[in-house]
Amino acid sequence: MKLKLAAGASFALAFAAAATFAIYEVAESPGNQLFGKTLVSGPKNERVVALTYDDGPNPPYTDAILDVLRDERVHATFFVVGQAVQAYPNTVRREALDGNALGNHTWNHGHLVLYDLTSLRETLERTDQAIYAATGQHSRIMRPPYGGRDWLVLDEVRRLGYTPVMWSVPLAKDWEYPPGAVIASRVLRYVGDGSIIDLHDGNRGIICARQHVSPHVCDRSGDVVATRLIVESLKRRGYRFVTIPELLQMGRGDRVVKRTSNRVGG
Ligand SMILES: [Zn+2]
Repeated sequence: MKLKLAAGASFALAFAAAATFAIYEVAESPGNQLFGKTLVSGPKNERVVALTYDDGPNPPYTDAILDVLRDERVHATFFVVGQAVQAYPNTVRREALDGNALGNHTWNHGHLVLYDLTSLRETLERTDQAIYAATGQHSRIMRPPYGGRDWLVLDEVRRLGYTPVMWSVPLAKDWEYPPGAVIASRVLRYVGDGSIIDLHDGNRGIICARQHVSPHVCDRSGDVVATRLIVESLKRRGYRFVTIPELLQMGRGDRVVKRTSNRVGG
């Protein structure tokens, strides 16, 4: 009997763990529209692609990526982390001056599902103030860290006037420091018309020069190399590079399921 109980309990535990894992998988899955509309990709009938970078600014890697973009005469979108914007405003100013778009990636890269609404507002507004201080522009696009969101998060994000932006090309796991050619091939295999590519020019907004962490943590040299390879390859395939605001202008993105539920309380 005891054994049976133990078996039942462990089954229940395993089930609960699996369910929790499934919920997290859904909360972070980029294409899922269950929690409300997000931009996942652009028009499927146009030869355009949007290159996006998360987690910076992170000199000197962000600057090296900006050099490649300028050299190739293409623009990208940078989803910046507020604390890093405050640390490196000049890099963010250059992102904007070069014609790239900026998006909000929260103040310190927290998982928004764990935030109450006041903290959610604060992390976005504080970041926007830092972007404004650096560039004189406000941003109305955002990307939730880890892709994490739920109904409450997306309702509030939209109420604040932001368009949440996900990605359509599976993540290249560039945070595991693979060589640039590996990052590029992981991305290129999945690119199609209207794709949104998500690379990382930083590491969760960590400021390696000031925080006592190994410089290796912030090494994004693979992404610098990958940027050149991706841009050159896609240009050869006839793609034009657009920013996320340009993609939004081109027509509404790929929205699958219309949100029907309303937030309860809060
Ligand atoms: Zn991130």
